[in-house]
Amino acid sequence: MILVHKDVNAKAVSILSDISHIEHADLSSENELIKRLRGKRVLVVRSKPRVGRKVFESCSGLRLVVRLGVGLDNIDTDAAKEFGVKVVNTPGATTESVAEHTLGLALSLLRNIPHAHISVRGKRWERKRFQGSELHGKTWGILGFGRIGRRLADLLRVFGTDVLVYDPYVSGTGPFTRFSDLHAFLRASDIVSVHVPLTSETRGMLSKSELECFNGYLINTSRGGVVDESALYDALSSGSLAGAALDVFEAEPPVDSPLFGLENIIFTPHLGGSTKEGQDRAVRHAADLIAKELDP
Ligand code: NAD
Repeated sequence: MILVHKDVNAKAVSILSDISHIEHADLSSENELIKRLRGKRVLVVRSKPRVGRKVFESCSGLRLVVRLGVGLDNIDTDAAKEFGVKVVNTPGATTESVAEHTLGLALSLLRNIPHAHISVRGKRWERKRFQGSELHGKTWGILGFGRIGRRLADLLRVFGTDVLVYDPYVSGTGPFTRFSDLHAFLRASDIVSVHVPLTSETRGMLSKSELECFNGYLINTSRGGVVDESALYDALSSGSLAGAALDVFEAEPPVDSPLFGLENIIFTPHLGGSTKEGQDRAVRHAADLIAKELDP
């Protein structure tokens, strides 16, 4: 039996139901999650719910937790290990989707597309107000040079954009200039996009002193906690930072964020990996992993 969180869509549930019986439920409450997990060997979640230590302590039959997508920050992997539960995700399935979304956000920012759209809808024709800038010739700093960062660097070649890289954990950055100093990397970039996982090291990695080094455009499609939202608010409201795009937030969904009151920021609701193609790839990969676990 497989327990699947409600955020997993019907198509994915139908693919998974070819493997075993599925229970598809709202697992947002930890008590509900624990209650429903009794007797199940596999749990399938997305970036929610939180699967904490108490879940592993309470559900001795659990063998596998599948996180559809990248990032395991909602799962207590140390506790899982302690209780002998395997935790897997589907890395790579949404790489293309997130890289493309990051590019989309950059073009939206540089060409004022979301604001211009609202203006035309409001029956205005403000061509001067929304004059933009080209990506061509700009310097784009990629923070975190893993799957998404590398794919983005490939996509940027056609725009004639200079690419800089900051990632202390990779050695080869190909033709792209590598920085070992974060502040120098930020100072040298016109646009910075963030592609690191959320860890104790990356939490708050872009805070007041980092944002003060940089006056271009910041795009975060990785995890909300990497950018300090209160420092971001200060940098955007003082005009020291030109603009920002956030797909991810410290708390999701964000409620009454002061950032909503600013003009020089645009938002999407954690859509980076949310494409038909990316989700299909993720669920097929997950189905293979589950089939192997249930019928090794
Ligand atoms: P990845 O593991 O392939 O790459 C992450 C890179 O970050 C690695 O190269 C690693 O060396 C680097 N890194 C780690 N700590 C660092 C630090 N302190 N400074 C600089 N670099 C550091 O992961 P990926 O597949 O490229 O995904 C990146 C992140 O994107 C994920 O962790 C996830 O949080 C996020 N993501 C978001 C969405 C979305 O819908 N918005 C979808 C998928 C992934």
